[in-house]
Amino acid sequence: MSKKTILKIALPSPLRTLFDYLLPEALLNDTATLKPGYRVEVPFGKQRLTGLIIAIEAHSDIEPGRLKPILALLDEEASLPEELLQLALWSANYYQHPIGEVIFHLLPNRLREPKTLLHKHLYVWQPSQKALLIEASSLGRANLQAKALRLLQEHPKGLNQETCIHLGVTTATLKALEKKDLACLVVRQKAEQQNFEQPKPQMLRSSHLSLNTEQKTALQEISKALNYGFQSFLLYGITGSGKTEVYLQAIEQVLNEGKQALVLVPEIGLTPQTLLRFQERFTCPIATLHSGLSDLERYKHWYQARSQEAKIIIGTRSAIFADIPKLGLIVVDEEHDPSYKQQEGFRYSARDLALIRAREKNIPVILGSATPSLETLHNVQQGRYQLLKLTQRATHIFQPAIKLLDIRKENLQSGLAQKTLQHIRHHLDRQQQVLVFINRRGYTPALICGACHWLASCPFCDARFTYHKGKNRLICHHCNYQQALITQCPQCHHGEMHMLGQGTEKVEELLQKHFKKIPVLRIDRDSTEKKNAFSQGLKFILKGEPCILVGTQMLTKGHHFPKVSMVCIIDADQGFFSADFRALERMSQTLVQIAGRSGREIQDSEVLLQTAYPDHPGLQVLVREGYLTFAELSLKERQVLKFPPYAYLVLIRADAIHIEQSVAFLEQVKSLLVQQIQLAIKVDTPSTKSFQNIKLLGPAPAPMQKRAGRHRAQLLLKSESRSALQALLKNSIPLFSELPENKKVRWSIDVDPLELF
Ligand code: ADP
Ligand code: ZN
Ligand code: ZN
Repeated sequence: MSKKTILKIALPSPLRTLFDYLLPEALLNDTATLKPGYRVEVPFGKQRLTGLIIAIEAHSDIEPGRLKPILALLDEEASLPEELLQLALWSANYYQHPIGEVIFHLLPNRLREPKTLLHKHLYVWQPSQKALLIEASSLGRANLQAKALRLLQEHPKGLNQETCIHLGVTTATLKALEKKDLACLVVRQKAEQQNFEQPKPQMLRSSHLSLNTEQKTALQEISKALNYGFQSFLLYGITGSGKTEVYLQAIEQVLNEGKQALVLVPEIGLTPQTLLRFQERFTCPIATLHSGLSDLERYKHWYQARSQEAKIIIGTRSAIFADIPKLGLIVVDEEHDPSYKQQEGFRYSARDLALIRAREKNIPVILGSATPSLETLHNVQQGRYQLLKLTQRATHIFQPAIKLLDIRKENLQSGLAQKTLQHIRHHLDRQQQVLVFINRRGYTPALICGACHWLASCPFCDARFTYHKGKNRLICHHCNYQQALITQCPQCHHGEMHMLGQGTEKVEELLQKHFKKIPVLRIDRDSTEKKNAFSQGLKFILKGEPCILVGTQMLTKGHHFPKVSMVCIIDADQGFFSADFRALERMSQTLVQIAGRSGREIQDSEVLLQTAYPDHPGLQVLVREGYLTFAELSLKERQVLKFPPYAYLVLIRADAIHIEQSVAFLEQVKSLLVQQIQLAIKVDTPSTKSFQNIKLLGPAPAPMQKRAGRHRAQLLLKSESRSALQALLKNSIPLFSELPENKKVRWSIDVDPLELF
């Protein structure tokens, strides 16, 4: 009789493997309850590590003598439920990332500590008979105790200890009540939970708006899917068309079913308004998950979702991995936003995983955007996603068209044309607000010698320094290296240094000089470094007094500024010349999003785009025919060039102290891949042809070769068959570590890369 006593364990380690451990005698009896997803503590070299059981098997390839037993079983219930374990395995496989790192990316950091945090038993605090008869205020100045007592009185059947703590009542306070014979602690099985903690009847804090026809149709289609199962929607709606209202009402239906909803947003800190709208609508607790949380906060919010105390979970990218047992709907707002793709380490796309998770869970998923990504539109064309359209602004205010201002004949002052300044004046005179967009922070992006044209550049990157006037420093935006301002050319020693171009600081300076009595508010990463600076800025804007906002991309994300009646885009021309095949898509999304900030509640608003390329065909289509037509044409172009979504890409990056090392390593990777392709072709299978068609482009130095002192190179894999690429990588990556140059480089794999540099 073989007992299953080998535990296959994932450890927080970059090694692409699971680790085998023995289940000690003492725990053998627990095998009936022990399942994958439980955490254990194990010896690892000289350390002790927290690991997670992935499988329990009878056999190991390791000699029995070398197997070590685990030190402790840390959980009384699985830290990672089956559903998420499967998602983790799927992601590790698809994104070619070490399983241990993926698993521990999913779990809150606190669960890395070898402590038992999740119990099978629940500790429940109940009010005593006596407690139900007295007034909480009679506890007088013992304020904390009065608060605790009130809480227990409101929950005569008792409250879970965890919940009490989440609600700000400490165990010490509860114990003090116990001493006064006002509270008692009872232990219950988790399964009994429903008996004492009835979910509150779900209520709306504010009633919902009555939907217009398009919104109604969209909601009806989503409702149908809620009763049915997996279905993907693209909710395409121009900015301000009421997409959020559709999400809110769909979520209301989900909550009425006793289920939970997950809403992904690009950045929570930048869009407090979104969170506020959910809080204003629903009475139920809402858990937020984002990078601004401390480990403890994150754990608490994670637990709220897991314990179903929170019915709605709003979070950024990583929230796609939240433990939500009764998940009934996933919403991905602004689905085109690049921040859904993690750009380092475990390079997953939360948007794409939302679809995988919804499919596995058999629930609907809504991708919403005014500027959907080409990938998503392609999926609509293929019939994989259902398109729901909102073409009108919900407020019935006409969205202004983008007007082009040809700057070739204009005399520019800090990047602004005289005409632009006149238009700004006009809107300010009407007591309205103006938003000036420039996608570059700092004062000036280039410092050049007037005599020999020497450019001040970062010593560690192939990049120019940006001068920041506020800090009076030269700063590299790629590695953050800083140094003092250079006033005399270090190369020819007599040239004077000139500042070229402008960033937000310089535009702010000019506008402040030009409109002396009007407040000018700069919003970029520098101005919002201080805590609360951003929310205070937003508060000021919402007061509605005439003012000018100067800002970067930070201002594009879903804000609703009722008093803004003019948006002015200073310089968006960089997008025309980038080598990146996504640059034009990205630029048009930014333009449409930023234009959408104008005239949300004011008639006669305008959007002015300064450009030196008014005849650019892409820009013409975008301005005249709108985003969807632009996107359709771009898709045709991608199809001809065989770029995503018509082909799949994987980028292998390497960096080292010398560029030769990076390139040499990738040459070795390439030969290895070629060998593997040939092997696959030899075994004549139906997929042979798809292996033949994999293209290996490079290796070549990265477009920005030197960055933070490392020299970077890359190898691009391109194929029309996703499965062939996957199979190739799966077979080859384990062999990378044996390549001769491996020790000299750092390398990474980026599946479905968003950026090719
Ligand atoms: P989006 O998410 O598409 O940008 P919002 O949902 O933020 O649009 O809606 C824009 C504005 O229109 C908000 O102020 C919202 O309260 C309002 N709104 C949305 N739907 C309706 C409706 N059916 N009736 C009236 N106002 C609405
Ligand atoms: Zn010089
Ligand atoms: Zn640098």
